[in-house]
Amino acid sequence: MKRCKFSMLAAAVVALAACEDSRVWAEGKLKTEYVVLVTIDGLRNEELFGGADPKLVNNSKRSGAENPSKLKKKYWRETVDARREALLPFFWGTLAKQGVVLGNRDLGSLVEVSNPHHFSYPGYAEILTGQPQASITSNKAVRSPRETVLEYVGRKLELPVEKVAAVCSWSVFNAITAKTAGSIFCNAGFEAVPPKYLAPGMVEANDAQFRLTTPWDTVRHDWVTLTIANEYLKSQQPKLFYVALAETDDWGHERRYDRVLQAASYFDESLRILWGTLQASPRYRGKTSLVILTDHGRGHTVDNWTSHSSKVPGSAEIWIAVIGPDTPNRGEEGSKGSFSQSQVAATILRLYGLDHRDFNPDCARPIGAAFK
Ligand SMILES: [Zn+2]
Repeated sequence: MKRCKFSMLAAAVVALAACEDSRVWAEGKLKTEYVVLVTIDGLRNEELFGGADPKLVNNSKRSGAENPSKLKKKYWRETVDARREALLPFFWGTLAKQGVVLGNRDLGSLVEVSNPHHFSYPGYAEILTGQPQASITSNKAVRSPRETVLEYVGRKLELPVEKVAAVCSWSVFNAITAKTAGSIFCNAGFEAVPPKYLAPGMVEANDAQFRLTTPWDTVRHDWVTLTIANEYLKSQQPKLFYVALAETDDWGHERRYDRVLQAASYFDESLRILWGTLQASPRYRGKTSLVILTDHGRGHTVDNWTSHSSKVPGSAEIWIAVIGPDTPNRGEEGSKGSFSQSQVAATILRLYGLDHRDFNPDCARPIGAAFK
């Protein structure tokens, strides 16, 4: 009897999945012509959905903030809604209303990583290949074991190298973003922009990255990354563009909650700047979808919020936002359900009208909730 019940349930789940899949595929041509993917490393659900964490803002010893009263003045508000708008005013005030935001557990929306490691490279490999990659078990700069969704879009649409581009704060992205070196444009970590692509608006940041260094050898300031990225977007007009910010994670590991919130606030400003560029361009306006997510969660407590791994509860919990002309304007409303970052590659491909099964037979399917 038990077995019979299970198989009926399994059949129902399969039927439901097939139904959702065909709904996504049946609708034909979408409005999206360009996709911008933005990741922000290790930004917890607590901060995205709730702003400054009350447990940390009121515990200067465990937050590591140098000036707790300044931190509190800047980001503390009495309600959750006011706190998250103080931290991420553009995301919550403008972007979220034009798409869906998945992962608010208080509303029953679950988003998790599928890989067993719960740290960066396994997460990015999963995002960019549509499935966990068994050979990626560390953050070492080894090349992607599979063609990435970035490379696939470039190959499938027969685009010149510079039309699929990644600009990233962490140097390891040179390896993460492509199986084949040189198949896409990538500028990551402390790396000068080649003269051919050095637009006038990039010169200052390109130079400053080597002068205004960070505490980390492989991660440059997000300001450098975003400034180069935004000028690249204007000058090269990529078809698929990936911007990967990182400081939130590194300041977290340093136990500097004040800097984490500052970096989260800069992530919000980055979205405002990129969105402004897209809206000012007749090429991009109304034809561009944004996919925004984090690669892993981190601990929930005042002790372990600084770290993340398979041994730290909370590290698998993430969030995903999709904004654009083919996505319902539901904000958090339509976000019930359970999703994974494995679905991001297929979601991007679906936005271009491409089949994720051709990209990778084992690729997870598109996020149905991201489509009208
Ligand atoms: Zn980390």
